[in-house]
Amino acid sequence: MLNQNPAFLTNESLIECNEGAKIYSEWEVLTMAYVISDACISCGACEGECPTGAISAGASQYVIDADTCIDCGACEAACPVSAISAG
Ligand code: SF4
Ligand code: SF4
Repeated sequence: MLNQNPAFLTNESLIECNEGAKIYSEWEVLTMAYVISDACISCGACEGECPTGAISAGASQYVIDADTCIDCGACEAACPVSAISAG
Protein backbone atom coordinates (compact mmCIF):
# COMPACT_ATOMS: atom_id res chain seq x y z
CA MET A 1 0.00 0.00 0.00
CA LEU A 2 1.30 3.44 -0.90
CA ASN A 3 2.31 5.54 2.15
CA GLN A 4 2.32 2.48 4.37
CA ASN A 5 5.53 3.85 5.88
CA PRO A 6 5.04 7.60 6.32
CA ALA A 7 8.60 8.11 7.49
CA PHE A 8 9.81 7.46 3.98
CA LEU A 9 6.87 7.94 1.65
CA THR A 10 4.97 11.10 2.59
CA ASN A 11 5.76 14.39 0.91
CA GLU A 12 6.15 15.98 4.32
CA SER A 13 8.99 13.69 5.37
CA LEU A 14 10.74 14.11 2.03
CA ILE A 15 10.64 17.90 2.35
CA GLU A 16 11.98 17.64 5.86
CA CYS A 17 14.86 15.45 4.69
CA ASN A 18 15.68 17.75 1.80
CA GLU A 19 15.69 20.84 4.00
CA GLY A 20 17.86 19.10 6.55
CA ALA A 21 20.42 18.20 3.90
CA LYS A 22 20.44 21.76 2.57
CA ILE A 23 21.00 23.29 6.00
CA TYR A 24 23.87 20.92 6.71
CA SER A 25 25.50 21.74 3.40
CA GLU A 26 25.28 25.50 3.95
CA TRP A 27 26.65 25.10 7.48
CA GLU A 28 29.70 23.36 6.09
CA VAL A 29 30.31 26.03 3.45
CA LEU A 30 29.79 29.04 5.70
CA THR A 31 31.81 27.87 8.70
CA MET A 32 35.55 27.33 8.85
CA ALA A 33 36.99 25.51 11.82
CA TYR A 34 39.39 27.28 14.13
CA VAL A 35 43.04 26.40 13.63
CA ILE A 36 46.15 26.34 15.81
CA SER A 37 49.36 27.77 14.41
CA ASP A 38 52.91 26.63 15.06
CA ALA A 39 53.14 29.32 17.75
CA CYS A 40 51.47 26.78 20.06
CA ILE A 41 53.57 26.00 23.11
CA SER A 42 51.43 22.98 24.08
CA CYS A 43 50.29 24.44 27.38
CA GLY A 44 46.94 22.68 27.07
CA ALA A 45 44.87 25.66 28.22
CA CYS A 46 42.60 25.52 25.21
CA GLU A 47 41.67 21.86 25.46
CA GLY A 48 39.52 22.26 28.55
CA GLU A 49 37.65 25.22 27.08
CA CYS A 50 36.33 23.38 24.08
CA PRO A 51 32.68 22.31 24.52
CA THR A 52 32.89 19.65 21.84
CA GLY A 53 36.23 18.01 22.62
CA ALA A 54 37.65 19.14 19.28
CA ILE A 55 41.09 19.98 20.68
CA SER A 56 43.73 17.41 21.47
CA ALA A 57 47.48 17.11 21.81
CA GLY A 58 49.12 16.33 18.50
CA ALA A 59 52.61 15.05 17.81
CA SER A 60 54.29 18.47 18.06
CA GLN A 61 51.50 20.81 19.16
CA TYR A 62 47.81 20.91 19.95
CA VAL A 63 45.40 20.45 17.06
CA ILE A 64 41.73 21.14 16.31
CA ASP A 65 39.53 18.54 14.65
CA ALA A 66 37.75 20.52 11.92
CA ASP A 67 34.82 18.11 11.85
CA THR A 68 34.14 18.55 15.57
CA CYS A 69 34.80 22.29 15.91
CA ILE A 70 31.62 24.39 16.03
CA ASP A 71 33.44 27.73 15.77
CA CYS A 72 32.43 28.97 19.19
CA GLY A 73 35.75 30.79 19.71
CA ALA A 74 36.18 29.75 23.34
CA CYS A 75 39.64 28.34 22.71
CA GLU A 76 40.96 31.48 21.05
CA ALA A 77 40.49 33.56 24.18
CA ALA A 78 42.18 30.93 26.33
CA CYS A 79 45.44 30.79 24.42
CA PRO A 80 48.29 32.74 26.09
CA VAL A 81 50.29 33.06 22.88
CA SER A 82 47.46 33.83 20.43
CA ALA A 83 48.10 30.68 18.47
CA ILE A 84 44.43 30.04 17.74
CA SER A 85 42.42 31.83 15.09
CA ALA A 86 39.37 31.36 12.92
CA GLY A 87 40.28 29.40 9.83
S1 SF4 B 1 36.27 27.23 18.35
FE1 SF4 B 1 35.06 26.27 20.02
S2 SF4 B 1 34.49 24.24 19.19
FE2 SF4 B 1 36.16 25.01 17.90
S3 SF4 B 1 38.00 24.15 18.81
FE3 SF4 B 1 37.72 26.20 19.72
S4 SF4 B 1 36.57 25.83 21.63
FE4 SF4 B 1 36.39 23.96 20.35
S1 SF4 C 1 46.21 27.36 24.59
FE1 SF4 C 1 47.46 27.98 22.82
S2 SF4 C 1 49.59 27.44 23.37
FE2 SF4 C 1 48.22 26.35 24.79
S3 SF4 C 1 47.91 24.31 23.82
FE3 SF4 C 1 46.24 25.63 23.15
S4 SF4 C 1 46.94 26.51 21.21
FE4 SF4 C 1 48.74 25.69 22.23
